[in-house]
Amino acid sequence: MPLKVGIPRALLYYYYYPMWRVFFQELGAEVVLSQPSNKGLLANGLKNAVDEVCLPVKLAYGHVLDLAGKSDLLFLPRMVSIGRREYICPKFLGFPDMIRRIKGLPKLIDTNINLYKSSMEIYRAAHEVGKLFSGSSYKIWMAFLRSVKVHNQYFKLLQMGLMPTEAMAILEDRVENLPLPEPEDSFKVALIGHPYNIYDTYINMNIIKRLKEMGASIVTAEFLPDHAVNCASRCLPKKLFWTLGQRMAGAAFNYMKRPDVAGLVHIAAFGCGPDSMTGELIERSARSNGVPFLNITLDEHTGEAGLLTRLEAFMDMLRWRKAGAISM
Ligand code: SF4
Repeated sequence: MPLKVGIPRALLYYYYYPMWRVFFQELGAEVVLSQPSNKGLLANGLKNAVDEVCLPVKLAYGHVLDLAGKSDLLFLPRMVSIGRREYICPKFLGFPDMIRRIKGLPKLIDTNINLYKSSMEIYRAAHEVGKLFSGSSYKIWMAFLRSVKVHNQYFKLLQMGLMPTEAMAILEDRVENLPLPEPEDSFKVALIGHPYNIYDTYINMNIIKRLKEMGASIVTAEFLPDHAVNCASRCLPKKLFWTLGQRMAGAAFNYMKRPDVAGLVHIAAFGCGPDSMTGELIERSARSNGVPFLNITLDEHTGEAGLLTRLEAFMDMLRWRKAGAISM
């Protein structure tokens, strides 16, 4: 019987799941995912999480609890840094330790991932995890190479304009055709936020689908190659402390300069310190560049009707602006 490795469908799942899935499968393990986010899962997360954490981490608790009894091991790497001389939010670092106090969970795989000093550190981490499944360094190395290849293919698909679920489906041979292009008369709207906020359709009340139904075509930070994001973020006097915040700001600045992008929607999570700072930076820049901007903060009480009203008003404003009825 292959070992079952549980992966929560939360947090950095939206960046690394294709890579992690292939790595474990190449080593003979079976990968088990938590259910897509839903009301019960969030309620369970809220009940068990410490009060001080942000909404996405509370939801991640729910995903972890969903894997109890379904897997032999739980993959929760301690993410310290995912880029040279950069850190990510300390909540990622502390998450395995927050989870550890919950009784009845499978054994954690909580390897450190810290690329602050060297990107080669990723192989040390892969080897440490791989040893749990195979005694062969060669087999672990081959699994790692295959997973890196899939990771690169995944990001290429995102840069072609696919959403994570679409790109994952293609990589897993679950679909044969690429999604249809957006209609030409749609308004391009940049949706900026942490990937677990903008791509989790439950937590954001399906904002991408709703905006599309209102006539928007959506672009996100993940549609842009690294060099475009890095180049745009150089307008900041100082590099932001967090990798994901830097990426969001760079993408927002890039889209603000593009005449084909009609406006920007920033999604923040309640209880997120980095979001409040990045959001403020983006909003100030949007205002000074005359780009329509809407900030939406998600919390567990956010009502669907209020969200829809704000999105409709924003889309109406873009239409009036295009028609020349208002200027900013
Ligand atoms: S960046 Fe914000 S939303 Fe993400 S884990 Fe940290 S505090 Fe939570």
